Amino acid sequence: MSTPKPAATTARKSKPIEFGGQTILPGQQVTVDIPLASMVTQQSLPLTLRIYHGRSEGPCLFVSAAIHGDEINGVEVIRRLQKLKALKRLKGTLVLAPIVNVHGFLDKTRYLPDGRDLNRSFPGSQRGTLAGRVAYTFLEEVVNKCTHGIDLHTGARHRDNLPQIRADLDQPETAAMAHAFGVPVVMHSAIRDGSLRQVAGENGTPILLYEAGEALRFDEVCIRAGVKGVMNVMRHLGMLPSSSRAKHVDDAMISRSSSWVRAPISGIFRATIAMGAKAEKGAVLGIIADPLGDAEEPVIAPKDSIVIGRTNLPLVHEGEALFHLAYYDDAVDDIAEQWEEFEYSLDESMTLSEEPPIV
Ligand SMILES: [Zn+2]
Repeated sequence: MSTPKPAATTARKSKPIEFGGQTILPGQQVTVDIPLASMVTQQSLPLTLRIYHGRSEGPCLFVSAAIHGDEINGVEVIRRLQKLKALKRLKGTLVLAPIVNVHGFLDKTRYLPDGRDLNRSFPGSQRGTLAGRVAYTFLEEVVNKCTHGIDLHTGARHRDNLPQIRADLDQPETAAMAHAFGVPVVMHSAIRDGSLRQVAGENGTPILLYEAGEALRFDEVCIRAGVKGVMNVMRHLGMLPSSSRAKHVDDAMISRSSSWVRAPISGIFRATIAMGAKAEKGAVLGIIADPLGDAEEPVIAPKDSIVIGRTNLPLVHEGEALFHLAYYDDAVDDIAEQWEEFEYSLDESMTLSEEPPIV
């Protein structure tokens, strides 16, 4: 599907901006530390931002990661983004927030020390819980100063996500960004109460959520697809010059509903279907067995679907989520093949980074 490009921005000179009390002039690149609740040992623990302010006017895009402290692929996506030479020709402003939930990141956990989920704590308040205070600071100091956003996530612990964009596809500008990102699966996803997307959506800021890989793991393909996706969105927004090498996934699978298939019994689980594969109604997705294999129970696909997420942990109790299936209205081909092509095209794009890949 081709998407309308926003009107070209006139190359007017940009004006100074302010983040964290610091004035940033056109053409400057600065690191800003915004205070958060200190550690219990009273050392400071700031929200660190890297801000690139282009000489020409344009959109202000934030890219955030580790809102869930154990979701670290996005942290590496941002490290690679800030090394890109293309940023010298940036129009507008790029605000990178590599670790939003610093407290959770240090503890290698999704949550904050108060046990709350930051992405259910927006808009937060200055006088609320710890999570609410971090949410408030991030919203006031970053999100509300930007015109667009991309929030980077992964699956939970032991759960893998096929690289996918989740967004409110009923908003035309958000839908256009979602397609521009260029991964093979685009999900229309309901807004959750207290999420960043909810408050940003209410303020009219288009936001994409990129989900790829597993918590506490680096995945090179997911990272590269993330770097490329953010650059594609920046080109779409007119922040970077367009590139003849930028390939789009024009026939991304659009899905408006999905569900998890749960374990019918407890046992030892063997997945027999790959991520990205098409599962027809009634297909066997995997087997759950007792340790000696005397009693085996198949796990069945309830509807025609594509596998977009799954557990990597073979020891399961009944009711545990095993496969995340995306449902579609129009018939789709197995995107496993398209996925292979996509991985191959990422291999060809090694020039994105001169560094050795993580293997
Ligand atoms: Zn997350």
